[in-house]
Amino acid sequence: MSSATRLYLSNDTSARAAGAGLLADAWADRPEVQLIRLSSRGAFFLEPMVERDGPDGRMAWFNVTPDDLPSILSGIGGVPVRSIPFLANQTRYTFANFGETEPLALDEYQAHGGLAGLEAAFRLTPDAIIEELRVSQLRGRGGAAFPVWNKWKVAQQTKALEKYVVANADEGDAGTYCDRMILEGDPFRLLEGMLICARAIGASRGYVYCRQEYPAAAATLRAAIQKADEAELLELDGEPFPIEVVEGAGSYVCGEETALLESLEGKRGVVRARPPYPAQAGLYGRPTIVSNVLTFATIPNIVSRGGAWHASLGTEQSRGTIALQLGGRVKHPGLVEVPFGLSLRQVLDQFGGGMAPGSRFKAVQVGGPLGSLFPATGLDLPICYDAFAKAGAVLGHGGIVVYDHETDMVDLARHFMAFTADESCGKCTPCRIGSVRGREILERIQAGSGTMDDLRLLDDLGETMKLTSLCALGGRAPYPVLTAIEHFSGEFRNKLRM
Ligand code: SF4
Repeated sequence: MSSATRLYLSNDTSARAAGAGLLADAWADRPEVQLIRLSSRGAFFLEPMVERDGPDGRMAWFNVTPDDLPSILSGIGGVPVRSIPFLANQTRYTFANFGETEPLALDEYQAHGGLAGLEAAFRLTPDAIIEELRVSQLRGRGGAAFPVWNKWKVAQQTKALEKYVVANADEGDAGTYCDRMILEGDPFRLLEGMLICARAIGASRGYVYCRQEYPAAAATLRAAIQKADEAELLELDGEPFPIEVVEGAGSYVCGEETALLESLEGKRGVVRARPPYPAQAGLYGRPTIVSNVLTFATIPNIVSRGGAWHASLGTEQSRGTIALQLGGRVKHPGLVEVPFGLSLRQVLDQFGGGMAPGSRFKAVQVGGPLGSLFPATGLDLPICYDAFAKAGAVLGHGGIVVYDHETDMVDLARHFMAFTADESCGKCTPCRIGSVRGREILERIQAGSGTMDDLRLLDDLGETMKLTSLCALGGRAPYPVLTAIEHFSGEFRNKLRM
C-alpha cells in the first residue's frame, strides 16, 4: 500500500487559471504525494485550493504555491472545509458534488446519489415524470424562465418519427460559468437529466451544443459520454440513446434556441420566427427540447426527491435554488447556489465579501450583457423572476458582475451596444440597424460631440428595439444602455457638447 498522502486539487479551468496546473506540474514527481484532480468547489478566490483528509473531514489550504507542500504534508495551517463561510452558507443540491468527486468517476457519481433520478424515472410513466416536473414548478434556467414541464408536455404530445433532446452549452453571457463547471466537473449529472427528458418525451437522440471557447468542457463531456456508453447507460427501453457533442463557432446569438438549432443543422446561426416552437418543430423540423445545461442538471434531484421537494424551496414564483456566479470587482468571486429570494445585497455581502481592495461600489449588472444596471439603491431587490421582471430586469443565467468607482458608464454602455452590433444575426431591422446606430450615438457622446438630442434619440431607439426586435438579443440590448442613462445621467450629461 502506498504511503503517499492523498491531496485533492481542482482541475477546473478557473482553478487552473489561478495556478492549479502549476501545482500539479510541480508536485508530479513527488513520491510522498498522490494528487487527485477533482471538480472545483467554486470558491475561485481561494484557488489554488489543496485539500487532504482529516479525522473530521477534509482540511483545506488556500492560494497554495508549490513551496507550501511541507506545511500541507505536516498538517500545519489547514482549515476544515465545512467551516469556510462561503461554502457553509450555501444550499447546494445541483452543485453538491463539486469539490467532492472526480468528474469522470461514474462509481463516485453513483456513490453520491447519482443515477437515482434516472432509476426513479424508469419506475415512472412518461406522464408521471412530467407531472413531477409540473409539481416542482421548475422554470428553465437559461433566461426565458419558461415552465419546463410545459415544453416537455408539448414535445411528448406532438407525434413524430423522431424527437430530440438538445443541451444548450453555448454559455455566452459575460460573467457566467456554471454550465462550464457542470460540463467539466459533474458531466454525468447533465447526461442523467437529458436521459430523463428523453424518456419523458420519447426522444431517440441527444446533442450537446457546446461553445467553442470551452475545449476542456467538450473533452470531459465526450469522455463522460464514452464511459456512460460503456456502462450501457445510454439506452432507453432497450433502444440506444446516443448523445453527441457539437462545438459551436463562437456566435453569441447561437445561445438563442432557434439559432442554435440552425447551427446544429449545419446552417448559419440565424434566429427562427416562432411559432412553431422547438418543442413542436425543432431540430430538422422534429419535436425538440432545448434547455441549458443547468436546467438539465437540476432535473435528477427533482425526479429522485419528488417535485414537492423542489417546490418547497425558494419563493412563490421562483421555486428551487439558483446558481449565481459572482464576478467583477467583488472580493470573493465564485459560484453560489442558494434558494431564490435573497436580495442582491445579501448575496454580495454574505458571499461576495464586499468590494475588492481599493474599490468602491458603483453598479451591479445581473443577467449578462443584456442585463439591467443597478446602482446601490437597487441592491435590496430580491433575486427571483417576478421581482426582477417588475423592475424591468432579467436574471438571465445568474451572472452577477460588480463594477467599481473607476468604471466609465458611458463607455460601458457603448461597449454593450457594440457587442449587440457585433453579435446581431441580422434577421430583423431594429436589431441589425438599430444596434449600429446606437453604437454610433454612444461613440459620439463618448468622444465629447454628443448632444441632448442624442440622449433623446437613444431613448427612442431603445423603445423601438425593445418593442419590435424578433428575439431577446435586440429586445434586451437597450436595457443596459437605458439603465446606465437613468441611474448615471450625470456622467452622460458631463460628456455632452455644450
Ligand atoms: S433581434 Fe437581432 S439577433 Fe434577434 S433575430 Fe433580430 S437581428 Fe437576429
